[in-house]
Amino acid sequence: MPELPEVETIVTELNESHLLGKKILRAAVFWNPTIDTLSACQFSQAIKDQKIIRISRQGKYIVFHLSEGYLLVHLRMTGKFLFNLPSRHERVRLYLDDGRILYYADQRKFGRFYLVKTLEQMKNIGIDPLSKIFTFNAIKLLLNSHSRKIKYFLLDQRYISGLGNIYVDEALWEAKIHPQRFSDTLSDTEIQALHTAILKVLEKGIKNLGTSLGEHQANYFSVSGRRGGNQYKLNVFRREGEPCPRCGRTIMKLRVAQRGTHVCLICQQ
Ligand SMILES: [Zn+2]
Repeated sequence: MPELPEVETIVTELNESHLLGKKILRAAVFWNPTIDTLSACQFSQAIKDQKIIRISRQGKYIVFHLSEGYLLVHLRMTGKFLFNLPSRHERVRLYLDDGRILYYADQRKFGRFYLVKTLEQMKNIGIDPLSKIFTFNAIKLLLNSHSRKIKYFLLDQRYISGLGNIYVDEALWEAKIHPQRFSDTLSDTEIQALHTAILKVLEKGIKNLGTSLGEHQANYFSVSGRRGGNQYKLNVFRREGEPCPRCGRTIMKLRVAQRGTHVCLICQQ
């Protein structure tokens, strides 16, 4: 599933694809449930002739700022944008006024498009870790006002948005925090370490253009079809049985928050 660094990479590529100022002449929808709230017909009608003003990201959402409103896209498991006709799993097409077509493909079909007038809907989405409001005090307040296992807490998009299984495991290892610790039991030093670790693993993920876990089509790849490189730089995620890069003890795989969770039980006590 694309997490913050993968979505950020996609947004950068969309911005570099000269989409700004282009008009969407029409849309074609091949899988109706991809369009949330509106019918495919209403969506096509509403997006027709809208100009793309800006493309940004909040958490795991891609935000197309249009001349009248916003198109929010959540890629979920396997959603992808591309300029080349996908061989399979095409769900939506956006026809642009420069003759190009922006294709949306989604093998697992969980991705969603939300065409909205205002960004009101984004109020329920937690703090984006790359925004200015993601401060030590903000994360401390959130952690202290909930008593949940830290892994659950970090995966819950209502608190902090953008982290998924990969970057949560990496951040907790980096901060030397066990995933089953409760959010309201962390010391200030641990919260500071976690804050720094979240930024570090996300910035590394972005620098390496995201994480593509395998060769299969369902994996993350960017708009231009490029795979990420961060899978070669991960410290614990899917490295069970290998030595911890910090202490040399074997990395273990546990189940926390219904997710495979990778830890070093020496570093993360
Ligand atoms: Zn270790």
